[in-house]
Amino acid sequence: MMQDSYIQQGLRRGMVETLRQGGITDEAVLRAMTEVPRHWFIGKALDAYAYDDRALQIDCDQTISRPSTVAMQSQLLALKPNMKVLEIGTGSGYQTAVLCRLGAQVFTIERQKGLYDRTSRLLKELGYRAKCFLGDGYQGLAGSYDRVIVTCGAPEIPPSLMAQLRIGGIMVIPLGEGEQEMLRITKQGEAKEQWLVEKFGTYSFVPMLDGKQMH
Ligand code: SAH
Repeated sequence: MMQDSYIQQGLRRGMVETLRQGGITDEAVLRAMTEVPRHWFIGKALDAYAYDDRALQIDCDQTISRPSTVAMQSQLLALKPNMKVLEIGTGSGYQTAVLCRLGAQVFTIERQKGLYDRTSRLLKELGYRAKCFLGDGYQGLAGSYDRVIVTCGAPEIPPSLMAQLRIGGIMVIPLGEGEQEMLRITKQGEAKEQWLVEKFGTYSFVPMLDGKQMH
């Protein structure tokens, strides 16, 4: 059984208050992040830092995104219940769980087998009904999605992901090598000229890498 003590719940409410003060206004996002215990998605050794606004080390040399980043990306998605969401970079599964809590049908891809194995099992055990895939998120996943969220730094906008986004849909993607600019792309039509691109500041993500790595 996973524990969620009063102390952890208190720290979590504090985290959400900080997000609110930091400019997150979407009440559904704030509620979801109050409800999903972030400490369940990181190793025991880092438990004490679970509700600080920082990225933390997870398996396979990757990181769980900062709470403020998860909040910002979730808010930019402007989700409505039951939307089909494609997530690239499952990692710890925390962002995945927040999207599930927001009522999305989540399809999530991870390229590291170690993380895929561990996180798909964890999400299932915790009752989050995300569909997890091991593969190359640059290629996406056959289907048509209302929303696409990329949680690793992409060197360019992956063409397959834009093709899999339905017209009227939104992609939230950190673009760039080294540092990234957070973009929200609203696909108003198939042609590139019909993509509305808005910018939301600078972030630092682990890179999106090619192919899948089987270890
Ligand atoms: N949302 C996650 C972020 C983890 S870091 C969390 O908060 O825990 C980004 C993740 O993207 C890493 O786990 C990394 O292995 C994965 N990743 C990088 N390139 C990828 C690709 N091409 N396809 C799928 N996942 C990828």
